[in-house]
Amino acid sequence: MNDGRSPRRLGARLRIALEVLEDASEATGFLIPHRTDGSVPYRGPGEVDYACGGCGYLLAIGVPPGQFQRFVFSCGCGALNRVPWSARASSAWMADSSSAP
Ligand SMILES: [Zn+2]
Repeated sequence: MNDGRSPRRLGARLRIALEVLEDASEATGFLIPHRTDGSVPYRGPGEVDYACGGCGYLLAIGVPPGQFQRFVFSCGCGALNRVPWSARASSAWMADSSSAP
């Protein structure tokens, strides 16, 4: 049986470092603004946390698998983040491309 420790999962949670957009013109998805009061913009019941790819600040906690794949997360550090393809393709997530253009 697998009694080893996986470096990718701590407990039941999975933290994903988002991908920082090099150019703001790439931010074509729905923009989620950052909070100025230090709180997390989104909290949900899921198992996935999204962290800023620039500074590591948590931008979403408890994301249900498959959510926010087309969203852009603004961070207080000035970075615009999107969900990396590696996370979208994760085998832990159910693929759903039915809404793709
Ligand atoms: Zn940041």
